[in-house]
Amino acid sequence: MSTIIRNGTLVTMNSRRDILRADILIEGDRIKEIGELKGYKARQEIDAAGMLVIPGLIQAHVHLCQTLFRGAADDMELLDWLKQRIWPLEAAHDEESLYYSALLASAELISGATTSIIDMGTVRHTNSLFEAVKQSGLRYLGGKCMMDCGDEVPEKLIDSREKSLQESMDLFERWNGQEQGRIHYAFCPRFAVSCSEELLREVSQLSEKFKIPVHSHASENRGEIRIVEKERGLRNDVTAK
Ligand SMILES: [Zn+2]
Repeated sequence: MSTIIRNGTLVTMNSRRDILRADILIEGDRIKEIGELKGYKARQEIDAAGMLVIPGLIQAHVHLCQTLFRGAADDMELLDWLKQRIWPLEAAHDEESLYYSALLASAELISGATTSIIDMGTVRHTNSLFEAVKQSGLRYLGGKCMMDCGDEVPEKLIDSREKSLQESMDLFERWNGQEQGRIHYAFCPRFAVSCSEELLREVSQLSEKFKIPVHSHASENRGEIRIVEKERGLRNDVTAK
């Protein structure tokens, strides 16, 4: 499969931040040539005159599992939003609803020029999430959401610490490096409010041992900061008053 994108303005993002008027030849999944490619032919030719041609965007934090909830919980404070709407909705997911939520979210991301994401899954059915990601073509870093405690968390979203860790390691074994390295696993302890200190410490140790990144939330708003300070005696921020 070869593609030429002609006549566009290329925002290269190389070390010199060059912006070029040039054509691009893509063969398979690699950029083969950049320049004036008049004599070249490709199976697919795209005229990008008047357009910018940019590298894929990177979405540094997203929840593919929440796409179907859009508009169902607007204008609420973080913890009310989670307790009253988002956690019950996440708890109601089954394998199929999660798969299609992730697939729809992926399609929306791709249509907005995003090609790489860092995602937080939900607690259950994470294999369905990865099946959708596999099909989407997105470059992915993320995994099962880890929750082993918390106030007003639906029963379906709470694991024992052992189960949360074991399932995460099983998913890491199964999915990390899949699709020619396009899929990467990350531990996803949701936040200090829903993870015991023991769980967080074990995640930290396993992360070091197996070189698995950790993706979490911290300092989302003042209410969360206060709870963390009250329950753990620590502030997870340095500047908020
Ligand atoms: Zn988030």
